[in-house]
Order: sequence, then structure tokens, then C-alpha cells
Amino acid sequence: NAYYTNYDERACLPQQLLMKKPPTKRAKAAMVILVRNKEQEAIAETIVNFQDKFNKNFDYPYVFLNEEPFTEEFKGAMRRAAPDATMKFGLVPESQWSYPGWVDQEKAAQSRKSMDDSGVLFGGLESYHHMCRYQSGFFFDHPLLDEYEWYWRVEPGVRFFCDITYDPFLYMEKYNKKYGFVVTLLELRDTIPTLWKTVEEYAKSRRIDISENSKLLFPYFRDKNSGDFNLCHFWSNFEIASLNLWRTPQYRDFFNYLDQTGNFFYERWGDAPVHSLAAGLFLQTDEVHYFEDIGYQHDLYRHCPSKESGLGCRCDCPVGTNDKSIDHDKNYDTCLPVWLKHVKEDEKKRA
Ligand code: GDP
Ligand code: MN
Repeated sequence: NAYYTNYDERACLPQQLLMKKPPTKRAKAAMVILVRNKEQEAIAETIVNFQDKFNKNFDYPYVFLNEEPFTEEFKGAMRRAAPDATMKFGLVPESQWSYPGWVDQEKAAQSRKSMDDSGVLFGGLESYHHMCRYQSGFFFDHPLLDEYEWYWRVEPGVRFFCDITYDPFLYMEKYNKKYGFVVTLLELRDTIPTLWKTVEEYAKSRRIDISENSKLLFPYFRDKNSGDFNLCHFWSNFEIASLNLWRTPQYRDFFNYLDQTGNFFYERWGDAPVHSLAAGLFLQTDEVHYFEDIGYQHDLYRHCPSKESGLGCRCDCPVGTNDKSIDHDKNYDTCLPVWLKHVKEDEKKRA
């Protein structure tokens, strides 16, 4: 049955059929997980869930990364969570998880203190700054990822609710997508006081057209009244994206420009707004894909395919009163309406 072997993204295939006919075509892709030894239990649960909903049928490898060596206990727990999966465990080079020479460490410490005092989320946590900088500028260069072109970022504690019976990487290839997200939301303004200004300066100096007329994604992030950052971005704890997007000279130049400011340390720039704004500069809107069909939860925020959409395969999204998670698509900080409006306007531009 040709229909089934194509693994059509609109089809919700029976599990039995998938098991009988494993996919024959694969992408050069891996699950990428930056994680600490102490998060063992949460990531093991996520992997059991992820194998069940998707990867038992597709068998993509896991690449675990850490700035400290993984313990034997950690590795053992991962192998028990997915005994059939290929797993690789890598160490983050110290040079990519430490202060670059131009950063004033005293100023960084003072900044952390004042962010802590004023309640900037994770602003006072030194490791968090290194994590955001690593996810922004370095993970895609890890030697364990050399052989891959695509990654799916997974984090400890996240949950998937629906069966994914097609290959999202092949979907991205087929439709010329470079970056995929599930949740888009407002960033906390006090984590990124000067990021927008810095990105605008960058675009100007590199002569990138970020005007409203541009077919780039960039206008999605602009408040149409103030011209300022509207704070919308893609939540990077879920990403299905091209590694090669970040490996381009353009993106490296952009990251270096940001990094020179020291504001991964003096402010608390997150990898989510950095990836998002970079996608804005280097991708056209139609190269970004909203995986509306993927039911997903990180912390308390969840996305589940709506009934009206007809999307989602055998979803077991939480319903009822004792579940504390929040339907983020209806939450005050969702950017979904802004996204949908942006996509419509972009389609008009192209027509
Ligand atoms: P949040 O999602 O912004 O709340 O931040 P998380 O604490 O979930 O961190 C994001 C990702 O980076 C997760 O996959 C964490 O496991 C990982 N991470 C955060 N801090 C560290 C760290 O200091 N070392 C390592 N190895 N991973 C970290
Ligand atoms: Mn997280």
C-alpha cells in the first residue's frame, strides 16, 4: 500500500502496521539532549514516553550532552529507558562552557546579583547563562553531531501526548522547512533588555532587509505600533530544526556579534529568543513550520491539537480537574494569534 509506505503526515497509522513495516527512508537526524546527571529520572521518563509515541517506530539515535561526564548510573538508566535505541554520550568542551576573554567576570557576578535581587528568572544562576550561550552558539558543532543534518531537541520532564506516525524530519526535507516549533510565546522583557536593539544594529550593519516588506520571518517579531520587539519567540525546549542552519557563516557571524556584547552574562539572553530572531534574519516565513499536530508539554505549558483542527493521532492529552497543566494556546502569553496573522499576511505578500 503506497499510501502507508509514504508515511503521509496527515495519516494516523495503526501501531501494528508501523511495527510490521518499519520506515525504509531515514533522515540524517538525532535527538539532542543537554542534561545534567541529577536530571536522570526526569529524562528517563521523557525517553520512555518519547519512544512510545514516536521513536520505537523510527529508531533515531539519542545524543546526550553535558559539561560534566555522565555517570555510569546515568548511562545505565538511559539504556534501560530505551534498550533498543542507539545512544551516544558526549562532553561539552570547557572552552564552550566558560567565560570568553572579553567578558568581565566581576561585572557578570554583579549583574547576576542584581538580576537575582530584581527577580529576573534564572538571571542569578551562573550555569543557566552558560547553558543559554551553549545552546545558542555551540551545540551544533559537537563532534557527535557531525554526521547529522537535523536535530530534535528534547528536555528532561517534557511529555508528548500524541502518536507521531510519520517522520517529521522527512516532512521538513520534503516541504523545505528549516525550523519547527510547537509553542510560541512572550519572552520576559527583563531577561533581554538590549537584545532587540543589538539585532537591529546587526541587521543594519550586514544590510539585511528586516522591513515590513521583507519576505523574511523577521517582521513576526516586531510590534507594529512601537516598532519594538513584541517579545514573541519560539520556545526552544522543543525544536525540530536544521543543524546546517546554525552551521552557516551567517549564523556564526550573528552569534559572535551577540556574544561580543557579553550580554549572555550581563543580561540573561535565552537561546530561545536568539534562535528565533536568527530564524527571523535568515529564514523566510514559509521555511518555519508550526507542528500543530504534536501534543507537547514543558513545565506547566501544554499544547494539544484542537478538535477543530482535526490534527493529532490518538492523543492522550490531560483533561479534567486534577491536572495542573495549562492549555497554553489559550493563555495570556501565547503568540499563536500573532503567528497565524503573520502567516496570512506573508501568504498575501507572496501571492
Ligand atoms: P528551562 O527550560 O528554561 O526552565 O531550563 P532547564 O533547566 O530545563 O534547562 C534547559 C535545558 O538545558 C535542559 O535540557 C536542561 O537539562 C539543560 N541544562 C540546564 N542547565 C544545565 C547545566 O548546568 N548543565 C547541563 N549539562 N545541562 C543543563
Ligand atoms: Mn526545561
